[in-house]
Amino acid sequence: MNRYKTKQIFVGNIPIGGDAPISVQSMTFSKTKDISATKAQIDRLQLAGCDIVRVAVSDEEDAKALKELKSLISLPLVADIHFRYKLALIALEVVDCIRINPGNIGDKNRVEQIAKGCNERGIPIRIGVNAGSLEKKFENKYGPTPKGMVESALYNIKLLEDCGFTNIKISLKASDVERTIESYTMLRGLVEYPFHIGVTEAGSLYHSMIKSSMALGNLLLNGIGDTMRVSITGELEEEIKVAKSILKYSGRQKEGVTIISCPTCGRIEVDLIKAVKIVEEKIKHIKTPLQISVMGCAVNALGEAKHADLAIAFGNKSGLIIKKGEILCKLEEDKILDVFLEEVQKMADEMDRK
Ligand code: SF4
Repeated sequence: MNRYKTKQIFVGNIPIGGDAPISVQSMTFSKTKDISATKAQIDRLQLAGCDIVRVAVSDEEDAKALKELKSLISLPLVADIHFRYKLALIALEVVDCIRINPGNIGDKNRVEQIAKGCNERGIPIRIGVNAGSLEKKFENKYGPTPKGMVESALYNIKLLEDCGFTNIKISLKASDVERTIESYTMLRGLVEYPFHIGVTEAGSLYHSMIKSSMALGNLLLNGIGDTMRVSITGELEEEIKVAKSILKYSGRQKEGVTIISCPTCGRIEVDLIKAVKIVEEKIKHIKTPLQISVMGCAVNALGEAKHADLAIAFGNKSGLIIKKGEILCKLEEDKILDVFLEEVQKMADEMDRK
């Protein structure tokens, strides 16, 4: 699975593009000027495994709060600004990246001032094209289509390049799967800048999980994407959890345990749903890349166990524990989960020591 070769940039200490791991971002929803609330949300995101955080800068108070906020956190900080270039000039003095669309901030002189400030501090600019807010000339000519989004991105890139600025990353977000895939794919061959991928306004957990998995999974499997955000109307931690799972299941990140479990059927003699829930809960702290399977009976369990590091094949009031394809032991149903979980932990510890 080849990944498109892109220029590498840095947001704080996080590399984006080139051969850097694909980073996960999110955004706070507090008023940025409410520093303690914003810090609390950033702390939650960091704990969940977020790599980069973005905050909205809507007015001067928000912009001026960035300095103190930055001093209180260790995650790289991105300021999200629309239209008001003066806010960008304040923000770029302290943050690690700004997200602004040069085409929305007025004349060339303004773009030059922002590019100069970012160049002096060595921080990148994210051009964040959104299907819902294209510049009028692209909206009128193409509508909110992939073509319109790509033309807008190329126009914004040129505005920065004309100022001698190339420390750029790009996002092309739409609220549906098809336009998201089409626009990123269309632009990928045309520029070497890294891409921030995401579906915007993707909805609540269930809907976003499906849309984001389809769109971002497709892009990642086709080698597109250098940093990503899963947007969810919901809890901050869920965004990170879903993003990391998409990375894991698209083969882009090896971290954590992958669980294979069967859907159950009439052959089942055990409460597999409960057993899988227990396993998921007890192994969620493990970062070691392991594959385990928990299956309801021997029909498919032995086949799955051949590919798993550790497996359970449940039977009638008992089950087998299988390690690397070899039967380790046969145990009563009420004992098997505890022994299995101990074995998983033991294997993770052994692999971590290597
Ligand atoms: S592994 Fe066994 S219980 Fe599970 S779905 Fe397959 S046949 Fe049914």
